[in-house]
Amino acid sequence: MNAHYDVIVVGLGGIGSAVVFQVAARGKRVLGLEQFTAAHDRGSSHGESRIIRQAYFEDPSYVPLLRRAYELWEALERDSQTSLLTLTGGLFLGALASTIVTGSRLSAEMHGLPHEVWTAQEIRRRFPVFAPPPHFVGVYEKRAGLLQPEKAILAHLNLAERHGATLHFQEGVTAWEDAPSGEIRVTTVHGSYTADKIIFTAGAWTPRLLARLGLPLRVMRVVIHWFRPRAAAAAFALDRLPVHIWQKDDGISFYSFPALGDPTRVGVKVAFHDYEWHETTADTAERAVTEAEVQAMRACLETYIPALAGDVVASKTCLYTLTPDEHFVVGLHPLMPHVVLGAGYSGHGFKFAGVMGEILADLALEGQTRHPIQLFDMQRFGIGAS
Ligand SMILES: Cc1cc2nc3c(=O)[nH]c(=O)nc-3n(C[C@H](O)[C@H](O)[C@H](O)COP(=O)(O)OP(=O)(O)OC[C@H]3O[C@@H](n4cnc5c(N)ncnc54)[C@H](O)[C@@H]3O)c2cc1C
Repeated sequence: MNAHYDVIVVGLGGIGSAVVFQVAARGKRVLGLEQFTAAHDRGSSHGESRIIRQAYFEDPSYVPLLRRAYELWEALERDSQTSLLTLTGGLFLGALASTIVTGSRLSAEMHGLPHEVWTAQEIRRRFPVFAPPPHFVGVYEKRAGLLQPEKAILAHLNLAERHGATLHFQEGVTAWEDAPSGEIRVTTVHGSYTADKIIFTAGAWTPRLLARLGLPLRVMRVVIHWFRPRAAAAAFALDRLPVHIWQKDDGISFYSFPALGDPTRVGVKVAFHDYEWHETTADTAERAVTEAEVQAMRACLETYIPALAGDVVASKTCLYTLTPDEHFVVGLHPLMPHVVLGAGYSGHGFKFAGVMGEILADLALEGQTRHPIQLFDMQRFGIGAS
């Protein structure tokens, strides 16, 4: 088997599914290769929900990308006739000087995003299930909400196929080369293919596929739980609660969503963002969740959301691919202009999937993009710097 494509995309998870859609919609011949099934649960894009927000505490320079991200999610909902984005509002809580509060306010003020800052007392009045310490404040953003990642991946893949993309599942890429003839050669478990360009969106497998590039990526195992409220279950319903992120005084963050269904039946999703990160690899990560991990989450809930500290309905693992500064790595390979890379999404990339699809397709097809991506340049790690 040997076929030639304009573009090959390696990895059809959260980001790659958006890329194959974008490339196919531009009329190019694209092959998408995925080692597992569509919307599987072994990478970084499963678990029913992802937060989307604009008052971005990580850095104000994400805000223009977020504006475009919202437009593209709404367009995807229209084109696929699927509900993917639910605006619940978002509340980001911590001490006045915490990164989450100062950073969210900075982005909101710099970009004129509507927001409010509430005292602990005001937060307790509006959401009696929340128990912030008296010195906490909350930045409230109305346009925040949640995305449904598995549905979003399937919507992008279905539309990509409708635009003529060829998608192969359960076909892992085992080798690739930028041949002297100027074409890319890809070998998989089933065959080989050639293309003018290749885009890598391989998530936590990137360190293996692009080992020679020497990117400083670390893969972390993280755990998500669904807890059953032990009181006030109706307060956790989708139309009652915003998505919320808390930064404790020790710097550790956790976040939770309103329930996507009856809270007493499906549970309420909650997770630490950065508690006891265990460095691992995508192929060797321990998938079982320990009782100690459940207890650590419950102890945190006892303090901040005591009504939620009931039984655990389910727990799952997920993978982050971290860069040293937790900003993404997006760009052309410094030595191989036919190779494009989107990786290192550091546990906050899903909300950008649509706009990343646009950016990575731009880079592969035009060699540049109008979107601001300077923050994601791999030269900051000394890679490709002259
Ligand atoms: C618990 C958790 C919570 C998160 N919460 C949020 C949030 O609230 N908001 C947010 O914006 N982001 C969040 N994120 C981060 C976000 O989900 C990720 O940044 C994003 O999903 C990464 O997508 P990806 O396409 O890079 O990786 P993946 O979706 O893992 O896709 C990579 C794909 O490449 C495939 N692949 C790898 N190697 C090969 C190969 N050799 N051949 C073929 N296929 C291959 C894999 O099988 C996989 O399907 C969270 C992540 C986790 C784990």
